[in-house]
Amino acid sequence: MIPYGRQNITEDDIEAVISALKGDYLTQGPTILEFEKAFAEYIGCKYAVAVANGTAALHLSVLALGIENGDKVITTPITFAASANCVKYCGGDVVFSDINAETYLLDVNAVEKVLESSPKGTYKGIIPVDFAGRAVDLEAFKKLADKHNLWLIEDACHAPGGYFIDSKGVQQNCGNGNYADLAIFSFHPVKHIATGEGGMITTNDKELYEKLLQLRTHGITRNVEEFSNSLEFANGTTNHNETYPGWYMEMQTLGYNYRFTDFQSALGLSQLKKANAGIDRRREIASIYNDAFTNESFIKGQSGVIEGHAYHLYVIEVENRLDLYNHLRENKIFAQIHYIPCHLMPYYKQFGWKEGDLLNAEEYYKTCISLPMYPTLKGSEQEFVINTIKEFYKK
Ligand SMILES: *Cc1c(COP(=O)(O)O)cnc(C)c1O
Repeated sequence: MIPYGRQNITEDDIEAVISALKGDYLTQGPTILEFEKAFAEYIGCKYAVAVANGTAALHLSVLALGIENGDKVITTPITFAASANCVKYCGGDVVFSDINAETYLLDVNAVEKVLESSPKGTYKGIIPVDFAGRAVDLEAFKKLADKHNLWLIEDACHAPGGYFIDSKGVQQNCGNGNYADLAIFSFHPVKHIATGEGGMITTNDKELYEKLLQLRTHGITRNVEEFSNSLEFANGTTNHNETYPGWYMEMQTLGYNYRFTDFQSALGLSQLKKANAGIDRRREIASIYNDAFTNESFIKGQSGVIEGHAYHLYVIEVENRLDLYNHLRENKIFAQIHYIPCHLMPYYKQFGWKEGDLLNAEEYYKTCISLPMYPTLKGSEQEFVINTIKEFYKK
């Protein structure tokens, strides 16, 4: 069986987890901070906050940046539903804007049109997605966000190790915080770095970082400098009021339990060591597909080799997609479709979204298919995938 994606767990990973399990902490131990620091260094940002999963990372990001009931946030329909749902969790409204037919990414020009056609203050933020691993041009989105006073969350779940080149010729790594306020990642097994469940929020903003730490754990702080109740109250006596007592903490805001664990962090640290090799292998697999299909009509959009692409997915656009999908399955090749446009999910249709609203996304959905793409995909397996597809179209 050849899936479209899978994790790569080695002996090193297993030993790292066993050794964490033998330590003093299961959750809330020192390995979490170590993983956060290593991840921030890998991505090239100042701060990282590990959380329970990518969806929790999105939820906390929207909470930290703030929306009020009825505020609107723009995202792409070609993404995993969580990119949009986080807005609904916080009482906001999701506005889907169309993709660019070539890049499959949220189209900055379409977003601009949406923004300019509504009164000022209607919109609160934009959540672009580095779909399939292709980096969004965040410089362009930042310009637009500043003009309309919006925050920017980069959903970089598909793109740790991806980058784009900005207008000054500088490489901007996905999630580095130079343009977006916050970026989020997932460590689900199909993603680049696997910890079972897991997620990360990255930023260069110290204030947001501290807010996120509180929100991750019930809105509680143990930082003396942040306390607001009096020493007298905290100590329960008017005597000995020089310092807050050892047990004291304050719940200052409504937070959640979205904590990550120490043994998952050990796995994350070990996985991170293989991240660069994994990206290299993904790019190699992409270029083999690209060479094999050079003269085929279904090489479109993202399927050429693209600089900075992190290749979470390798997407082609084909005719007879349904038949190809079934034919591949008969050959134990489990290709996948990314994504069914979010705005046409029954949940979102109840808010008025309908077929015909976002034509590029809907056309893309009719032909897209993601081929097997993961570092441990064997050369012979990839050859089998390529030959099976070629034979299908010869008939
Ligand atoms: C996987 C994914 C998420 C959610 O991550 P989980 O860890 O599964 O909660 C969000 N956005 C995108 C684009 C994803 O691919």
